[in-house]
Amino acid sequence: MRQFNKVDSAFIGRLRDIIGPNYVLTESFDIEPYTHDETEDLRFAPEVVVKPNTTKQVAQIMKLCHDQDVPVTPRGGGTGLSGGALAVYGGVVLSLERLNRIIEIDPDNMMAVVEAGVITGVLQRELEAQGLFYPVDPSSRDSCQIGGNVAENAGGPRAVKYGVTKDYVYGLTAVLPDGRILKTGGKLLKNVTGYNLTQLLIGSEGTLAVVTEVTFKIIPLPKYRLTLLAGFNSLGEAARTLTKIFSNRIIPSAAEFMEKAAIKAAEDKYEIKFPLSDPEALLLLEVDGNYRELLEQQVEQIGEICLAGNAADVVVADTPDKQAALWTTRSKIGEAVKSIAPYKEEDTVVPRSQLPALVEKIREISRKHDITAISYGHAGDGNIHCNIIKKGLSEERWQNEMPLVIAELFTEVVKLGGTITGEHGIGFVQKRYLPLALSATEIELMRQIKNVFDPKGILNPGKVLPA
Ligand SMILES: Cc1cc2nc3c(=O)[nH]c(=O)nc-3n(C[C@H](O)[C@H](O)[C@H](O)COP(=O)(O)OP(=O)(O)OC[C@H]3O[C@@H](n4cnc5c(N)ncnc54)[C@H](O)[C@@H]3O)c2cc1C
Repeated sequence: MRQFNKVDSAFIGRLRDIIGPNYVLTESFDIEPYTHDETEDLRFAPEVVVKPNTTKQVAQIMKLCHDQDVPVTPRGGGTGLSGGALAVYGGVVLSLERLNRIIEIDPDNMMAVVEAGVITGVLQRELEAQGLFYPVDPSSRDSCQIGGNVAENAGGPRAVKYGVTKDYVYGLTAVLPDGRILKTGGKLLKNVTGYNLTQLLIGSEGTLAVVTEVTFKIIPLPKYRLTLLAGFNSLGEAARTLTKIFSNRIIPSAAEFMEKAAIKAAEDKYEIKFPLSDPEALLLLEVDGNYRELLEQQVEQIGEICLAGNAADVVVADTPDKQAALWTTRSKIGEAVKSIAPYKEEDTVVPRSQLPALVEKIREISRKHDITAISYGHAGDGNIHCNIIKKGLSEERWQNEMPLVIAELFTEVVKLGGTITGEHGIGFVQKRYLPLALSATEIELMRQIKNVFDPKGILNPGKVLPA
């Protein structure tokens, strides 16, 4: 295990000189919120938390840590689900929360420039007020940051039509582990000048550089959106129907899937109710665009496809209030499922046409090992979050058997042409499974890239690459 230097009082003094004493946290009470993210029940205390306010301050902090051989863990909103923001080696947590300025919204170029610590939902509302749209919409939008979205290449329900973070980001300002400031790309829709470092940094999970500023494409806000909820008596019917919608040449702007146990968890915890009676599985579908009549036709067609696929019930939400109610219920599912018992969330993704096979595999593996696995997610992207719940399992089975069950699940996912994470990243908790999805050559190249950016290994150590 790599040994780093410990933080001492002289080091703290230099941090205070760079950003001022109020933004250097050393007391355990102040540090506590930075000891965990939203991943399982993991806690790692950093020795100090810093909250810089400018790219220059980030660069000075990185140079200091680099020279002193102290590890640094960048942190956005702390909503990550793979433990990427956990300070597993102690050292410094570098929080981007004060870099929260929207620098420019530029409708002439249809681009926006923001600091990394801007909360995604805040930015979306600011754009929507101007008839503009940044469609990347992780369900954690009101707590996660744009920088964290870049680091994780975040997706969300709308990815099915609009794509993920990488499809919008055209330029970055980032600080390298030794403190050098890097600027990549810009407001350019076309740019093939050299290697695409912007795209290399997207999804690098805070292991190559600290992102401080993001330039991204924006699009016009669609005028209308219609939502439809369909209940099915089996998971397989729901999954098969979903693929039929696409083969009928309809691309919904969201296509979410929830199984009964997930629905029930949200209904029980929050005393809310989906307006359908006791389905085994739900599809929540949305279409958007500028021509309402066309959308109404599409919704009708989707409804017919659902009924032909054996849907027991279909309801349409045609007002913003009804739509908001459905989406609020959907957004509560993750937390509700996780509150049942300790859990491990697996972020499986397969080609969409393999969705029926994936839900069947998850059921088969659960039955075989006698475990509870609750599935929901962005089915339009083939991306199912499978939560294995500790309910009824001894600590010994949980510790020893679950890694084998997860490896079995991932092996099946890869056989279906899929991979082991669609949007949550590898981070700390999934790195042991990386060789199931990537070849030795790919992993070796990734190690070499890491070494070029961070030869001393001080930036977010213990993440992504297996030991
Ligand atoms: C309820 C809930 C719903 C969610 N729904 C979705 C969803 O629909 N789609 C989806 O994709 N994800 C989802 N997530 C996961 C999570 O919100 C995303 O991964 C998000 O992008 C993390 O952003 P963050 O700012 O919270 O980053 P953090 O959790 O703080 O950090 C995540 C990783 O990014 C790195 N990092 C953060 N900021 C920077 C930076 N400025 N520079 C370099 N590295 C940085 C960290 O070191 C860490 O490795 C959900 C999470 C929760 C809790």
